[in-house]
Amino acid sequence: MRTPIIAGNWKMNKTVDDACDLVSKLRESLAPYSTVERVVCPPATSLLPVSAILDESPIGLGAQNMHWEEKGAYTGELSPAMVKEFCGYVILGHSERREYFAETDQTVNKKVKAALNIGLTPIFCIGETLEQNEAGKTEEVLTRQIKFGLEGLSEEEAAKIVVAYEPIWAIGTGKAATSEDANNVIGGAVRGNLKKLFGNTVAESIRILYGGSVKPGNAVEYFGMSDIDGALVGGAALKVDDFTAIVKAAAG
Ligand code: PEP
Repeated sequence: MRTPIIAGNWKMNKTVDDACDLVSKLRESLAPYSTVERVVCPPATSLLPVSAILDESPIGLGAQNMHWEEKGAYTGELSPAMVKEFCGYVILGHSERREYFAETDQTVNKKVKAALNIGLTPIFCIGETLEQNEAGKTEEVLTRQIKFGLEGLSEEEAAKIVVAYEPIWAIGTGKAATSEDANNVIGGAVRGNLKKLFGNTVAESIRILYGGSVKPGNAVEYFGMSDIDGALVGGAALKVDDFTAIVKAAAG
């Protein structure tokens, strides 16, 4: 049995005051759903104050990105140790980072290794564009992202990651993948490639999330699927009621 995870990616939203307000409310509203691993990923400026609010709460905290180097002349970046001071998780390789900040499978791979080295759980994001999807290249793209993004990981390390399959055409568009399609891709190309690289037992133990326009109205469909172990949620993670409803749907 894989424990479901619902992680909220707040992206570049919420000042410190707003973030503290939202997380204080979530701390209460998410409390009943202890069968679900609940994670919030606010902007970097709010990690410290939000970590204080979540102190002794089971809700996990994640960063949205980090650098792989330990320290040095990397203006604007956060090191693994800086993230680890407050967080247990880090989102890596989000499609917005790949698209707007030139992240590649190779840099994402360095980040995944750095996260594991310091004891952070990487939420490793993969997904195809609309063009690639329409050209029938989804499997090819995911195979490449998994192969190079997770290159060099031991089976033991691979067992610690969380994968988020996020078709880019579904992110923030309101055009979600159907639960059947998402489950077919996750059970096929995603878990299939993990099996090839790390063996059946490890691949079966890795949590794989769906991400892309998950809302209270469609969440329950995904969580009934055999290979979908939760969701990475963007827009709906910014509203207490919506995020809580999604967590509730995952709790069954
Ligand atoms: C995301 O940013 O990871 C995401 C899935 O966004 P949204 O839920 O808004 O589509």
